[in-house]
Amino acid sequence: MTKTPITIAKGDGIGPAIMDATLEILEASGAQLEFEEIEIGKAVYERGVPNGIEPGAWESLRRTKVFLKAPITTPQGGGFKSLNVTVRKSLGLFANVRPCVSYDPFVKTNHPNMDLVIIRENEEDLYGGIEYRQSRDVMASLKVISRPGTERIMRYAFEYARANNRKKVTCMSKDNIMKISDGLFHQVFDEIAAEYPDIENEHMIIDIGTAKVANRPDMFDVIVTTNLYGDIISDVAAEVTGSVGLGGSSNIGTDFGMFEAVHGSAPDIAGAGIANPSGLILGSIMMLTHIGQGDAASKIHNAWLKTIEDGIHTGEIYREGVSKEKVGTEGFTKAVIERLGAKPEKLTPKEYPNIAGGIKLPPLKDPVEVSKKRVGVDLGLNWYGTADELADKVQTCVNDNLKLHIISNRGTKVWPEGQPETFCADNWRLRFIADDGQEVKTSQVIALMHRMNEADLNFTKSVMLHDFDGKPGYTVAQGE
Ligand code: NAD
Repeated sequence: MTKTPITIAKGDGIGPAIMDATLEILEASGAQLEFEEIEIGKAVYERGVPNGIEPGAWESLRRTKVFLKAPITTPQGGGFKSLNVTVRKSLGLFANVRPCVSYDPFVKTNHPNMDLVIIRENEEDLYGGIEYRQSRDVMASLKVISRPGTERIMRYAFEYARANNRKKVTCMSKDNIMKISDGLFHQVFDEIAAEYPDIENEHMIIDIGTAKVANRPDMFDVIVTTNLYGDIISDVAAEVTGSVGLGGSSNIGTDFGMFEAVHGSAPDIAGAGIANPSGLILGSIMMLTHIGQGDAASKIHNAWLKTIEDGIHTGEIYREGVSKEKVGTEGFTKAVIERLGAKPEKLTPKEYPNIAGGIKLPPLKDPVEVSKKRVGVDLGLNWYGTADELADKVQTCVNDNLKLHIISNRGTKVWPEGQPETFCADNWRLRFIADDGQEVKTSQVIALMHRMNEADLNFTKSVMLHDFDGKPGYTVAQGE
């Protein structure tokens, strides 16, 4: 078997210790790997590289397309960019996959039957980092959900379920409130689910879904959700398993995979020899399945399960009466290596196929053409008076069919006929709509803005309003 080159980075804090442990186990398992080491993290940030990864390291990553990464310490203070976000975005790692499993009765948990996988969209949503300060008092973030981005994550979730013999996919969103962005996420889920009749599907609102994960995790199999909800719910789920330190995760792109532990660099215990290497070991098992070395993956996973089952535990999961021996990083590593070839007796043994390349997705569906008509514009303004005073001033600038329709503040209608109790901040949204159903011309909007500018009105933003196939591509304000 030819060796598969992979890029590794030892990171910071406990990173080097848990990476050395993982590499030792990989070598002992007979996995056919060739390691290329790159430097990432604190030292690189401190050399003045704002994203914590040396420019030369990209060459190795692009060539091997497989990255086993130890945690890093993110420096505090401004000017630094998240290394994880940079790597995810640069390499198009659109899916984050996090299995959350309980190992009852060997690791303490209130939920013995938990075995779920969270598939989190990794590139879009509020993590696009598109934020604005709009006025003295108002800040805003833009949530971006695209049809192709959503189609890809939904298909990945169903393909993952099929490949891993999972029976159900649950989509979580908040489309009762964000009807357009989360609404698309839910709609595309339904469309893709229809192509997988062999897999059960359901949708839950994220708040009740998160509560259920915390209380009845056994209800779930595969969960697919957006970037922000996925970030939160995967920590809830990891906590419910009984030990965040035991989680591995993968970030998957069309032809790239990054594999890591869920936890951070634990600077508080760095150098003490007590770190649990399990998160990175489980990450490396996901890596082996991704590159088609299923035999080595099964061998390591079963040895690891047997070690846990035999009660050989690091300090943070050690429990009197259940654990047999308290070990440090080295002792745990040795115990796993000694058990290579053995299978767990109580926990379920693992068997991975030798299929390389991970999950292959079919090409995206062709886009469905829609008719688009400009029907108005929303203009943002700073204003320090009342809504009625603002409306009076703006009405003097309106001289054609593009009429002032409503004024809203923080999303709530305040004119006409606003409620006196509504609190108003200093950034206002004015909605202008053509009152005769005619398509609005860009030149009309520019002329309106010109007249408002002459009247000393202070813009913060403008957004064109469109109907798509006759349906509004914008939401109405609360109270409208
Ligand atoms: P952390 O996960 O590093 O530590 C939280 C607690 O869990 C600590 O008490 C720690 O000792 C313990 N812990 C974590 N992993 C352990 C292990 N393997 N064995 C035993 N105990 C373990 O989270 P934090 O303290 O919030 O963050 C520390 C640093 O890690 C920060 O700089 C943070 O930005 C970074 N971080 C990096 C990544 C990553 O690189 N993927 C992820 C999360 C946090």
